[in-house]
Amino acid sequence: MKYPKLRELKEAVKAILVGPYTSAFPKKPFTPHPNFRGQYKFNEEKCVGCLACEEVCPAHAIAHKDVVEGSRGTRTMLHYSDTCIFCGTCEAACIADHQGIKTSLEWELSFFDRKKESFETIKKELQLCEICGVTIGCKDHLKWIAEKIGELTYSSPTLYQARLQNLGVIDENLQSVLKDKGRADRIKILCAPCRRETTLTTK
Ligand code: SF4
Ligand code: SF4
Repeated sequence: MKYPKLRELKEAVKAILVGPYTSAFPKKPFTPHPNFRGQYKFNEEKCVGCLACEEVCPAHAIAHKDVVEGSRGTRTMLHYSDTCIFCGTCEAACIADHQGIKTSLEWELSFFDRKKESFETIKKELQLCEICGVTIGCKDHLKWIAEKIGELTYSSPTLYQARLQNLGVIDENLQSVLKDKGRADRIKILCAPCRRETTLTTK
């Protein structure tokens, strides 16, 4: 007859006294370890809509959709939980101090309708060119750039105008002064081709 080893005996006694190692799920809700790498989620407040995460995602689990209606535009950021491989590259590349998209403790990812439930979305407001209406980027991204480069912001009319708009201070006076000389377009929020054209054209 073989006798149990001491270690096994110790574990058996411990299991009787402290109970099983496994959790009582689904009887009781399961809380993962704090270091668990679960569902990646956007933070709408922190994300600036720069698309760096979409660029680096190896599984193409991040996408965006821009919709422009009249003079307003919205960028919808999408994260697909069914294709995400939980690699963390998006969080590492996020320019918003790695806070725009982050892992969470969410582990229950099952769903019934893949078309409706396999992704999460956030929305960001777009900044459009004031002449041609093309998308320049997200308003929050322009604000982020302006804050990063500090006073250099004043070397770019697009950046400082976007910053002033963001602060709710729009220098109408400056625009009307330049309007008299036919150069009002110089101080608008413009895409690169329109900026080039307004800078080089002498009217
Ligand atoms: S964790 Fe990896 S696969 Fe998932 S969205 Fe981020 S970069 Fe893409
Ligand atoms: S701020 Fe971060 S989460 Fe938002 S689009 Fe840029 S990289 Fe992605």
